[in-house]
Amino acid sequence: MPIEDLRTIGTASPIDADLCLVGSGFAAWSIAEELRESGLRIVVIESGGLGPEAAADALNEVDDVGVPLRNGRDRLLGGTSHTWTGRCRAFDEIDYERRSWVPHSGWPLDGATIAPYLDRAAEHLGAGPYTPDGRAEEPPGPQERPRVDPGSLQSVCWEDPPPVRIGPHFLANTNAKLRVIVHATVTHLTTDPSGARLESVEIACDGETRTTVRARAFVLCAGGIENARLLLSSNRVRPNGIGNEHDVVGRYLMDHPRDDVPVVGFDVRDAARVRALFGPYKRDGARGRHDYMHGLAFAPERQRRDGLLNCAAWPREFSAADDPIDAATRLATGRSERTVRDLAYVVTQPGWIVRAVRAKRNDERVAHKLAQIGFTIASEQVPDPESRVRLGSRKDRFGVPIVETDWRVNAREKASQAELARTIAREFERLGLPRATLAPWTAEGRHDEAIFADGCHPTGTTRMATDPRFGVVDADCRVHGVEGLYVAGSSVFPTAGHANPTLTIVAFAIRLAHLLRRRLSATLAADVVSVRPPGDEAAVARYGTAS
Ligand SMILES: Cc1cc2nc3c(=O)[nH]c(=O)nc-3n(C[C@H](O)[C@H](O)[C@H](O)COP(=O)(O)OP(=O)(O)OC[C@H]3O[C@@H](n4cnc5c(N)ncnc54)[C@H](O)[C@@H]3O)c2cc1C
Repeated sequence: MPIEDLRTIGTASPIDADLCLVGSGFAAWSIAEELRESGLRIVVIESGGLGPEAAADALNEVDDVGVPLRNGRDRLLGGTSHTWTGRCRAFDEIDYERRSWVPHSGWPLDGATIAPYLDRAAEHLGAGPYTPDGRAEEPPGPQERPRVDPGSLQSVCWEDPPPVRIGPHFLANTNAKLRVIVHATVTHLTTDPSGARLESVEIACDGETRTTVRARAFVLCAGGIENARLLLSSNRVRPNGIGNEHDVVGRYLMDHPRDDVPVVGFDVRDAARVRALFGPYKRDGARGRHDYMHGLAFAPERQRRDGLLNCAAWPREFSAADDPIDAATRLATGRSERTVRDLAYVVTQPGWIVRAVRAKRNDERVAHKLAQIGFTIASEQVPDPESRVRLGSRKDRFGVPIVETDWRVNAREKASQAELARTIAREFERLGLPRATLAPWTAEGRHDEAIFADGCHPTGTTRMATDPRFGVVDADCRVHGVEGLYVAGSSVFPTAGHANPTLTIVAFAIRLAHLLRRRLSATLAADVVSVRPPGDEAAVARYGTAS
């Protein structure tokens, strides 16, 4: 079906659908795709256009009042899949647990609930496969693992398939029941007068075109900042916004804080040894030839014993200024600012180029000339109600308040990351592995000196909890107290582990799609049995009678 554009489709009458998805990133695509055969009329409302546009980007503006966040959100068809790098890893079982040493932790479900959806999620992302109990199946190979103390550290693996872009998926869509409308920004969520049911959303595009979408159910798939913004700014009936009776919307903003300079460094002469232990390397798996990389994380028993957060360290390589491969790339892509200098780097160091050509031919990783090699560490955060997004006083061009982001990185995150760095250094020494040098803030406990950045993973602002006093959505991702309104994306995560979020986002979106199918498809009861994933008997029992 062709993509529609709100600027040209006219706005005489409201748009009607069974299900309205706000946004067109991974979360929205996964839901639409899972409901492909459902017969439901689905409309996807996307604020941006088919490619990056300054006018759409302007709607992503925020006022940073805390630790600045990178602007890692794409407003266009396909959302942030446009720039993501594709790394996949599932959360650990401990990430779902209520942990006495992590205030506000605990999901209203466990890892086993989401495990049956991981393989399908991985399929959407070109990753995997995963076993039904949620384990990643890494292709076998000669990779050597360091024999770290299992009571303290565990080896963790990430998979980097070629990054999937969702925009082209929507452009190739053949589902006649799926409408995709771009240049359509949702500006208000409209409930019935009691505030108990979402009835429609208002959409706008430039030129003052405004109309409404009416649907039986809506899913906010607008990302970790915008999901909260839409709930907070839709405050005509309830002054605090929708789903915000207990002032939780926008709070508990989290990300995966990291120091971008390697926290654990090695001599570049040890690069080959570090690479042999951790990668990255390529392997042929069931879903193609992918990059894999290993790192080290705290073992769950160590987290429990010492009250630590879940952290992981992974290898990072930084090219030397005179790296001939980077120089050749700059020359080939017309991005060289000093052509003679770059040419000199290439012709005086031909060995690197020869090895790179050979690696490319064999579809292997290309080795660069390095200035530095080390581990970067990222961690989960302790959910902090003061770390938040809230409405500011400025408004965007559609009159929607611009949000202030007050992202906080606290002492617990820094202390856990520093402890992981020290543990790795000790274990490397004990095992006779390359000598590790620690960043001064880590070695000497000068945590205030650490400069942390986010990982473009805004999380937690519409967190999941059984009790509406502590969360915005319930375990089914439905906004507490509001019929017909659901949220998908990392904003529903109550805690974020150390894993990159998208595999988990997609797994939860698939689970939500299956629940919506049961709720919205009164005539499809028999069919439901065939789409029910194994292991979600509780949900099936609850929604066994289509409503
Ligand atoms: C540089 C970078 C690298 C990354 N690498 C990884 C990685 O390796 N692994 C990983 O797991 N994650 C990674 N991420 C994070 C990943 O991109 C996100 O987790 C994922 O894209 C989130 O998907 P989503 O569908 O929830 O939101 P998005 O993809 O952000 O989609 C939100 C959509 O909503 C639209 N929208 C917003 N507001 C409105 C509105 N009011 N009305 C209508 N539409 C609206 C937006 O235009 C957008 O299309 C990376 C992110 C960045 C920036």
